[in-house]
Amino acid sequence: MNYRCKHFSIKELVTPEMYSDWGDKCWSLFDDRLLRMIDMLREKLGPCVINDWSWGGNFQHSGIRDQHFYGSAEKYLASRSQHKYGRAVDLKFNNVSAQEVRKYLIEHKDQYADIKFVECGPLQSGKKMNWVHIDVRNEQNLCCWSPTEGIIEHSEVLRRKL
Ligand SMILES: [Zn+2]
Repeated sequence: MNYRCKHFSIKELVTPEMYSDWGDKCWSLFDDRLLRMIDMLREKLGPCVINDWSWGGNFQHSGIRDQHFYGSAEKYLASRSQHKYGRAVDLKFNNVSAQEVRKYLIEHKDQYADIKFVECGPLQSGKKMNWVHIDVRNEQNLCCWSPTEGIIEHSEVLRRKL
């Protein structure tokens, strides 16, 4: 059987539409490396939210994304987001700030070797990024990237608490 998360239900990883179409079969859409990494992080850093629509929350697109997120088939086809391929999640931890999680990931990157990409602030609005995007894309080393500054050195992410 394929890998299934110990700490997350499939509803927390997919959109309501995908769940109603395919139910538990959605597990097969994910890269198992991502599923193992989020279980490890949950065990180390405590409770965290990905999608919370199944208990009345607003997050629906923090796991895999389908065309509903993009609004049109063209936009969906044009995107190269790792969220489309079941290789990315946006994590919101209850007890640890996003900045602390990024610091932890950089300092323990050998333990989480499948995580290859972490997004960090600053955002276009100048605000901090209060969620943690991780993905398991095909890359050699962990890359930190900001929407406003592009690729950022690990030492800078730590120094500036991005
Ligand atoms: Zn993301």
